[in-house]
Amino acid sequence: MTGKGSAKAYMGLGANLGDRRANILSAIGCLRALPGIAVLRAASLYESAPVGFIDQPRFVNTVIEVTTDLSPFDLLAAVQRVERDLGRVRTVRWGPRTIDIDILLYDDVTMDDPALTIPHPRMAERAFVLVPLAELVPDRLLNGRTVRDLAAAARSRADVEILTPAAEVIPG
Ligand code: AMP
Repeated sequence: MTGKGSAKAYMGLGANLGDRRANILSAIGCLRALPGIAVLRAASLYESAPVGFIDQPRFVNTVIEVTTDLSPFDLLAAVQRVERDLGRVRTVRWGPRTIDIDILLYDDVTMDDPALTIPHPRMAERAFVLVPLAELVPDRLLNGRTVRDLAAAARSRADVEILTPAAEVIPG
C-alpha cells in the first residue's frame, strides 16, 4: 500500500499532558511513517481551554489532511496504535491521555457504528476542531453550513489561540 490511496480524510489531534506540542508533532510523524497513509497538510497548532471536564490542563490541537488506502476501520485501528504507542512512552509519569486522535471526515462517508461514527459526532460544535479544519477546507459543508462559518461562530464563544503556524508543523 502506498498511502496515495483513494480516500481523503481529516483527523483531529489533541494533547494536554506532557510536552503537548511535541506529542502532536510525534503523532504526525508516526502517522507519516505508516504504510497506507500519506499526510498531505496540517493546520496550525492551537491552544484551547478544556471542554467538558474543565479541571485539567489546556489542550494543544490541530487537524491534518491525509490520503489513505485504509478503510475507515483500518484507519481507526492504525490511529489507535499510534495513540497507544505514544501514550505508553509517558504512561508512568503522565497517564495515558498524552495524545487523542479522532477521525473527523473520511471522503463523504457517513457511518454510525458503535466503534466509529463519521463525521465525528461532536466536531460541528468544537472550536478546537473547527478552527484548524477551516484552514484546510473552509468551504466544506457540515450540516448545511460551511466549516468557515461554523468555525467563526464557535471561535466567538471559545478560547482558542494560535500557537504554531502551519508552515512550522510540517516544514516544506
Ligand atoms: P476518545 O479516546 O475519547 O476519543 O474515544 C475513543 C473511542 O471513540 C474509541 O473507542 C472509538 O472506537 C470511538 N470512536 C467513535 N467514532 C470515532 C471517530 N470518528 N474517531 C475516533 N474514535 C471514534
